[in-house]
Amino acid sequence: MSIIIYGEKERSFQELLSAAKIIKEKIGDAIYAVVIGHNISDLAEKVASLDIDGVYLFDDEQFRAFNPEIYFRALKMIIDETNANIVMLESNYKTKILGGLLASTLNLGLIVDIVEISFEDGKILTKRPVYAGKALSTQIIEGNKAVMTLKPGIFSPTEFGGKKANIIKKSIDVADVKMSLIEFTPKVVVGEIPLEDAEVVIGAGRGVKKKEDLEMIKELAKTLEGAWGVTRPLAADYGWAPEWIGISGVSIKPKLYIAIGISGQPQHTSGIRGSKIIVAINKDPDAPIFKFADYGIIGDLYQILPELVKRLKEIKGEK
Ligand SMILES: Cc1cc2nc3c(=O)[nH]c(=O)nc-3n(C[C@H](O)[C@H](O)[C@H](O)COP(=O)(O)OP(=O)(O)OC[C@H]3O[C@@H](n4cnc5c(N)ncnc54)[C@H](O)[C@@H]3O)c2cc1C
Repeated sequence: MSIIIYGEKERSFQELLSAAKIIKEKIGDAIYAVVIGHNISDLAEKVASLDIDGVYLFDDEQFRAFNPEIYFRALKMIIDETNANIVMLESNYKTKILGGLLASTLNLGLIVDIVEISFEDGKILTKRPVYAGKALSTQIIEGNKAVMTLKPGIFSPTEFGGKKANIIKKSIDVADVKMSLIEFTPKVVVGEIPLEDAEVVIGAGRGVKKKEDLEMIKELAKTLEGAWGVTRPLAADYGWAPEWIGISGVSIKPKLYIAIGISGQPQHTSGIRGSKIIVAINKDPDAPIFKFADYGIIGDLYQILPELVKRLKEIKGEK
């Protein structure tokens, strides 16, 4: 039984592979990666250095932007060729389209946003958050065949190794494709480092009163060479950022997360679960975030942040 993994970045493949290995250990015999894009051979080379059985590469101008019909055809071709029973995709808006197309065409079940995989009585058991992160739903895959999307930032990334898997170049005929892409606007990255890849993340919540005050958050992120993000109200209601951290936004897994003026509602904290160390700054000693935090500073962020940045800069020898 083979497993197909498909993501867009090195990190996606590293995480998908860790999850795929849980299945391979029990019932699988091979894991293949599919790399799709334009000028993307570097990514394929990197993925080939993971502990993987083969890499299928679709590298062509036609894959420059996401056209679901074309991407679907590429994935379907490899699923057919490898006789894959399990298809694992990194969760995002694109793979939710692809997952639906693949599951309906292949007559398989689709489980999205998986955060845990295990086995029970020889069957794959998956968990995914429901009710905006307030509960986890357990789903058993009958027959061990399914299309799955995995929430990024949850599974520990597999390290790259020295061994190189074969890279098999593939192409598809797009002459009869019905859907044409008119315009593509790439996702705006909030800071210089994408949130999901950052080792340090500074999160701002409604304790930050004005958009201009986000400069303090950015300054701290810059000093710690990290990324910055916000809670949903700051992005979705105030429009201060294009994306947010949490169950309905981006899941993060940094070494350090500093939550500033964030109350710690479950919809937010379910997106920061993978953080190694959480520091919370909040003026309310009863704020739920302190239950999640490893370290807490009770106080006014407007007093604490300038001091914190000043002290960190002194330590780093910066002005
Ligand atoms: C379906 C659904 C999905 C959702 N998904 C998400 C999601 O993915 N991510 C997300 O973040 N939210 C999400 N939410 C919203 C979520 O429920 C909360 O409303 C939100 O996380 C609260 O944001 P907050 O902590 O910034 O604001 P608040 O809850 O208002 O907290 C502000 C905090 O700042 C503190 N504070 C105020 N002033 C200061 C100061 N000067 N110094 C220090 N501390 C101060 C306060 O004590 C308070 O604890 C979702 C909601 C729904 C219904």
